[in-house]
Amino acid sequence: MSYQPSEKRYDEMQYNRCGKSGIKLPALSLGLWHNFGGEDTFENARALIQRAFDLGITHFDLANNYGPPPGSAEETFGRILKKDFQGYRDEMIISTKAGYDMWPGPYGNWGSRKYLISSLDQSLNRMGLDYVDIFYHHRPDPETPLEETMMALDQVVRQGKALYVGVSNYGTEESKKAISILRELGTPLVINQVAYSMFNRWVEDGLTSLLSEEGVGCIAFVPLAQGLLTNRYLEGIPSDSRALKSKSFLNKDDVTEEVIQKVQKLNTIANERGQSLAQMALAWVLREQKVTSALIGASKVSQIEENIATLNNLEFSNEELSLIDQILKK
Ligand code: NDP
Repeated sequence: MSYQPSEKRYDEMQYNRCGKSGIKLPALSLGLWHNFGGEDTFENARALIQRAFDLGITHFDLANNYGPPPGSAEETFGRILKKDFQGYRDEMIISTKAGYDMWPGPYGNWGSRKYLISSLDQSLNRMGLDYVDIFYHHRPDPETPLEETMMALDQVVRQGKALYVGVSNYGTEESKKAISILRELGTPLVINQVAYSMFNRWVEDGLTSLLSEEGVGCIAFVPLAQGLLTNRYLEGIPSDSRALKSKSFLNKDDVTEEVIQKVQKLNTIANERGQSLAQMALAWVLREQKVTSALIGASKVSQIEENIATLNNLEFSNEELSLIDQILKK
């Protein structure tokens, strides 16, 4: 069946300016780390992208290694773009990354100019695109001089293969240096993609403040702790969940009694707010306006729909925030 995007797709979504750049990102973006690989169902992947776009999600986040197998999420996304989104490229912000192990030998990993430039060429080829909107260095490389990595990011922009550049998993000091080098090169750092959720608050230790002060956007990945911060695991581990997939970073051993007890308490607060736990967890990530967008994953269309409804209530009272802090500290 041919897909026709909803005419109401811009009615509900909130778009936040990405740092001091010209682009805005949707408050919720969709990541293709899981559920878009060669081993996943193509029609489900297609339905997820279509529904997301219909609900105002304009930003789709990929990386060279997403799959499994690595590269296959970009291939799936390329097929979907070709089938359903011809004529809509200019309404989308598509990102990809390089920084983790991608091909054998010394040139398929980390942060050399050699790796970044050839990896982006491969990604464009897999997605059938001329350019991506944001190209990221996926993680800091302790061995390659940061200048070389940043020069590679600057180069892809000058070549027209990326419109903006970002870094991911860079800490405060690394971000400071990257911001300064890129500024000098004339290609500003537009965004840092970092892990942030109620269960992982490391960025609160100075990084989000630095990004705000420097006018750099911040996109929070794994805001639902891969599904732990939802009602998914309240009654045990469902058979279709990520925790039971073989090639997953969430293991059933992560679903401990202690985690579930916290989740249950958080769930009570969410329900008192008239929200699901997933919705409260997403609102919480977006609460201080230091985060431009919460980057969610989904295995079902219904999850995207539920998560979008977060936007109906983004406010927290001080009392709610301190109750949440108490639960998380225990
Ligand atoms: P989330 O924390 O949003 O977890 C998504 C999972 O949570 C879904 O697959 C689903 O699990 C479950 N879920 C989502 N919504 C609901 C809901 N409403 N109710 C119940 N369960 C729900 O993030 P991800 O781990 O998927 O990561 C998001 C994106 O972040 C990635 O796709 C990627 O783009 C990016 N990322 C970046 C990294 C980096 O180093 N830069 C590292 C990791 C991720 P289930 O599949 O079990 O149904």
